[in-house]
Amino acid sequence: MTAVPREVTSRYIDPLTQVWLGAARLVGLHVVRTPDAYASTDGRGTLAIGEDTALDADDSLAQMIFHELCHSLVEGECSFEAPDWGMDNTGPDHDWREHACLRVQWVLTGRHGLRKLFAPTTEFRAFWDRLSGDVLADRTERSVEAAISALQRSSRAPWAPALSEALAATARIASNALRFADPDTLWSAVASAPALHPTGLPLGESAGTCGTCAWRFDSRGKLACRQSGSRVDAAWPACERHEAALDCQTCGACCRAAYHSVEVSKRDPVVKKHPSMIVDRGTYLEVLRDGDRCAALEGGTLANDKREPFRCVIYDDRPKTCRDFTLGSANCLTARRRVGLSQ
Ligand code: SF4
Ligand code: SF4
Repeated sequence: MTAVPREVTSRYIDPLTQVWLGAARLVGLHVVRTPDAYASTDGRGTLAIGEDTALDADDSLAQMIFHELCHSLVEGECSFEAPDWGMDNTGPDHDWREHACLRVQWVLTGRHGLRKLFAPTTEFRAFWDRLSGDVLADRTERSVEAAISALQRSSRAPWAPALSEALAATARIASNALRFADPDTLWSAVASAPALHPTGLPLGESAGTCGTCAWRFDSRGKLACRQSGSRVDAAWPACERHEAALDCQTCGACCRAAYHSVEVSKRDPVVKKHPSMIVDRGTYLEVLRDGDRCAALEGGTLANDKREPFRCVIYDDRPKTCRDFTLGSANCLTARRRVGLSQ
């Protein structure tokens, strides 16, 4: 049969591919296909993804772009200017960064029922297959800290709103394809998106409730939530930000990067008890600093990608400023957000 000569003015593109090429463009990336690499960035705005012939049957360009965007969330805004997001793909700092990326991928896909459709296809797939439930629960894990900071970034430019809109569009395409899906395809593994928590936050996977959450507080006799800023019911299930208990020993946020000065009054007993810890700034006194943290704070070093406990060496004599700092308060939440321990 001879084709009727005609002018072709548009090209067809798979809708999921179109969504993620567009999302990458909105975030500031130009996607090209390459025979040379599985996935790489050049630090100048190009994301190269392997050609279809180099991919496995369960790879999709959409998932691979999403995976790379999760890497950029973990590595931060500056990573757009570094080849391969500044990752060297070897060495001791590689695994926890990959694990953080997959924790982010798990949380973001879980919000839309896309965990199977958008499962990673890298050599870290075994780690993904072991994930379940609240993958941010262990705050001593370096990869969890990095994942929480990444999730905070996901609601800021350049990722927002493109990333969440692309996930929502993917979920709509997936739920429409599900009805027609062949059983051996990823489309048949699409799940329904979970309902939102009554506060509007994403639903969580912890077994707790608002009543057992560290961020609930009493507001004029009623229960309220510091994370959502709204009233809550003690029986409501956990949202994604539920934290059963706050542990200052695994946190130390208020004593490290969160605040840059702890002012002390001249009459505070700590001045006489620990003079080596006090600095006279002329018009005021403050507790000595050690780099970006209070000099009285010990511990918190990372060993085997786990953060060791913190300890205040003047805890019993700590200044009034520290004694007045309340666990679970709005200031506590701010401090924890600054160091990547709370969303
Ligand atoms: S952060 Fe805690 S109190 Fe607030 S909505 Fe989530 S589970 Fe409930
Ligand atoms: S920020 Fe809150 S949880 Fe962390 S050490 Fe300070 S009081 Fe404790």
